[in-house]
Amino acid sequence: MKEVFDSHTHVSFPALASDLEGVLMRARESGVKMIDVGTTYETSLKVLETARKNPGEVYACVGFHPSHVSEINWHHDKNEQVSGEKEVFDREKFLQLAQEKEVVAIGEFGLDYFRLESGSESLVKEEQKKVFKEMWAVAEEVGKPKMLHLRPFKGSDDAYSDTLELIKDLPNTTEKISHFFVGSLDVAKKMLEAGFNFTFGGVITFVRDYDEVIKMLPVENILFETDAPYVTPEPMRGRVNEPVNVLYVAKKIAEIKGVDYDELISQVRNNVKRIFGI
Ligand SMILES: [Zn+2]
Repeated sequence: MKEVFDSHTHVSFPALASDLEGVLMRARESGVKMIDVGTTYETSLKVLETARKNPGEVYACVGFHPSHVSEINWHHDKNEQVSGEKEVFDREKFLQLAQEKEVVAIGEFGLDYFRLESGSESLVKEEQKKVFKEMWAVAEEVGKPKMLHLRPFKGSDDAYSDTLELIKDLPNTTEKISHFFVGSLDVAKKMLEAGFNFTFGGVITFVRDYDEVIKMLPVENILFETDAPYVTPEPMRGRVNEPVNVLYVAKKIAEIKGVDYDELISQVRNNVKRIFGI
């Protein structure tokens, strides 16, 4: 059985952790392995614990999601956080976590302009950029890839263009992944030129907006993801998403690109090795 990596999932979130045994068993039976992604220090600790308990099947990515950065913009998602407490970003704590051997990438961190409250946009953006730079520096310091969450305001590419601008002045030596890409073809080309890799998830199975981007990208820069428990792919929509469903994403990408499925998953497995060293 060929290995397929779900490069961005959240199996330590309460929504999936409540049936972790079942979730991991269904993945194992289909050859699916995964990178479990943290969004706060609290969830990052959980991710590390899950990776330690499931060596060779679950790997950790530790980060601080931009939705948790600002006082104004902060929100509580019951699928994600156990406690409804706001967390203050602490670089030293992340630097320590980042060095653990189970941690294969730093993230998710980035810019999320999707639900900014009007009137406070510029302040929130500044705060997000501050943490962005701190996390970027952590990744550079430990020499691990960066898993970026970049979500533009509806119909724009602002989070991507700001990122390209921001990183011009930063040290830039490790691999970069733009997770759950939702930008235009034009900005995808610019991101590719800047050396980004891209993950695609369930959304590409039921909207056609990203077909041109997927066709344009070299296979070497593509990864699969689920972002479970969110965004379940066809034909499983309506259920809670989980890593085994990454197979539907892989099939759809093969179909969109018009390439052989087995060849695609072998090539993407090589990408995982190159990018994450696993
Ligand atoms: Zn995520």
